Amino acid sequence: MANLTPCDIDSQLLRDAAKRTANRCDRLAEFSDEEGRITRTFCSPAMERLHAELSAWMTAAKLECEVDAVGNLIGKSPATASDEVFLIGSHLDTVINAGRFDGVLGVLLGLAVAEVFNEAKIELPFSLQVIGFSEEEGVRYRFPFIGSRGITGSLPESELDRVDANGSSVRSALDSFGCGCGNLASASYEACRLVGFMEAHIEQAVVLEEASLPVGVVTTIAGQTRARIVFDGVAGHAGTVPHDRRRDALAAAAELILKIESLGQNTDGLFATIGCIDAKPGLSNVIAGTAELRLDLRHEVDPVREAAFDQIQRLVDEIAGHRQLAGRIDNVEHTPAVQMDQELTSELSQSVVEVVSEAKSMVSGAGHDAMILTKLTATCLLFIRCHQGISHHPDETVSLDDIEVAINVMVKTILRVGHRCSVGASSTA
Ligand SMILES: [Zn+2]
Repeated sequence: MANLTPCDIDSQLLRDAAKRTANRCDRLAEFSDEEGRITRTFCSPAMERLHAELSAWMTAAKLECEVDAVGNLIGKSPATASDEVFLIGSHLDTVINAGRFDGVLGVLLGLAVAEVFNEAKIELPFSLQVIGFSEEEGVRYRFPFIGSRGITGSLPESELDRVDANGSSVRSALDSFGCGCGNLASASYEACRLVGFMEAHIEQAVVLEEASLPVGVVTTIAGQTRARIVFDGVAGHAGTVPHDRRRDALAAAAELILKIESLGQNTDGLFATIGCIDAKPGLSNVIAGTAELRLDLRHEVDPVREAAFDQIQRLVDEIAGHRQLAGRIDNVEHTPAVQMDQELTSELSQSVVEVVSEAKSMVSGAGHDAMILTKLTATCLLFIRCHQGISHHPDETVSLDDIEVAINVMVKTILRVGHRCSVGASSTA
């Protein structure tokens, strides 16, 4: 076996791998459910064609391909004596009118890493498996992370009965994709066989660009609170009810929105958003009788987010009180912040330092497959700079140089993990 201490991989080999990866992002962008823009949803015909293309590349890289019971495409390098597995990947589905890099880049980087190990003739003490998750964005079924929930055993059987806009269920989509999801459990990985999971994903913000850094290391995925806020006032004639007698639900909502914005602006690290409003009856000549808002609150520290939520509850009561209408918050969903694995993240950080001298610790405000994988195995998440933080948009851009840095960092990290596993195995032998 080749020496598994972090070594310098030939720079031309890395450059070639980066070029191949960028070209493949362009190629896979051609597989779309819609003409003229990138939209690729769970188990669609475009996803099937993409699988065929990606499988051919994986097979050429000596990875054995399979599609599991939830539609994930997995390329597996041969099993080793330890029977352990290290997973790298991200998602293959997109939002509507997406860019070329969100998700797909993370899968193709996994493939590039496997190719680099082949070309450098480095054997690892575990099977390297590259996974392209079938579903992360939640577009088709309004339910995200079907792929990663599937392999972590956290996809309830009942979710397979969800239907899309055409009335087609998850189960029937999987059946027609050839997955035969009769055995959902077969998609689950055994935690004891897994050494870890690494995801590389575009940052979707401007922290790295502003710091002039190509990559960063995520330590935490922010916790999130979602809720519905409703003001019930009294509908009335816009031309006859005087202002001092109005109980205008929409005006109450407007006051609350600005106060929530101010709370976000004045609380370090807090993202506080009302992204949706529905006023009824919704006519220009009628004072709104009810207004329904959707709240999204995120912070890396759960007690800070919880305190902000309590503050919003008080604001709702105050505004309802002085405007003499009813206000309530319901449908509350709290999702705690998720920490990445310390040891694996430290190995990732050391590798980043070797390549770009500074490893910036970051918080992800967006959810990622890595968040789900933490339930199963040691997980780390590498962010890659994207131009102006643009994502979920056709203008998404990642530079060739940054792709090369990401491959280098990922290779070095896996070498570190491989070294740790080899040392651990020999000391217990
Ligand atoms: Zn993504």
